Amino acid sequence: LVKHFPINKGGFLISRRVASVHAVDNISFDIHRGETLGLVGESGCGKSTTSQLLVRLIDATAGTIRFDGEDISALSGSALRRKRKDFQIIFQDPYSSLNPRMRVRDLLSEPMEISGMNSPERAARVFELLSLVGLARRHADRFPHEFSGGQRQRIGIARALALKPKFVVCDEPVSALDVSVQAQIVNLLKDLQGEFGLTYLFVAHDLSVVRHISDRVAVMYLGKIVEIASKSSIFSNPQHPYTQALISSLPMPRPRQTRRVIALKGDVPSPIDPPSGCRFHTRCPLVVDRCRVQEPPSREVGTHSVACHLA
Ligand code: SF4
Ligand code: MG
Repeated sequence: LVKHFPINKGGFLISRRVASVHAVDNISFDIHRGETLGLVGESGCGKSTTSQLLVRLIDATAGTIRFDGEDISALSGSALRRKRKDFQIIFQDPYSSLNPRMRVRDLLSEPMEISGMNSPERAARVFELLSLVGLARRHADRFPHEFSGGQRQRIGIARALALKPKFVVCDEPVSALDVSVQAQIVNLLKDLQGEFGLTYLFVAHDLSVVRHISDRVAVMYLGKIVEIASKSSIFSNPQHPYTQALISSLPMPRPRQTRRVIALKGDVPSPIDPPSGCRFHTRCPLVVDRCRVQEPPSREVGTHSVACHLA
């Protein structure tokens, strides 16, 4: 899957080449039915672009997305609308993703209305959804600003579930919430997954958040997936230097344990002109000459899929 955003000619003057943001650059992965794939990486690595590609909110520059064996990458118009009920997205900021002038009842009804559900069915489903996410019936008549951040995210979740999707992308659903509320929302998502057999892509910039919900974890860096493995294996035996650095920065479960902390130098480079060879070479503590010229292909190393020359 590839997504390049061309840069507006009237915008920045980058170079004589036609500039584009390489938001997602040749990634390939699968998500198994009923599992949660965690997707982590620093901000600007392409996680949200990947999220929006998968649920067809934006079109890919190249590549294919298969859902239940069906190629959905070329669907459009009414065919896409019909299919879309199967895959939904929960956004990071429930406040900006909910129309402030709509009552909760209407926010939840809207997707059902678009899909052609009649009014009594919609009304019944609204109450069902509120109860599923732990809100009261009386909340149906309120506006988003009358709720706390955690409650607003519950509304966002209810809206995403309105049409009984099979696959839900959770794009940093707890990043904007207080730490005390984060666990409640993660637990709610886990419960709903158990109840409805949902499949999740769960996006976070913080490995500690995906730890509790993921079955497998994919690590993204500058538009590339650099490592994928089961959760237990990625935490106990990370293969890619970037994964190792992310894990070494997590607080230790037992404070007296010692660990070598790999400090990453600088920020993520610009996705407009990404580094040659391995995109991580400008920050990698293990970099060798070859890394600057040759892009490391993704290889199987044990049970991991990892893109590093030295793995
Ligand atoms: Fe580091 Fe080279 Fe591996 Fe890239 S390929 S992660 S620069 S060692
Ligand atoms: Mg994001």
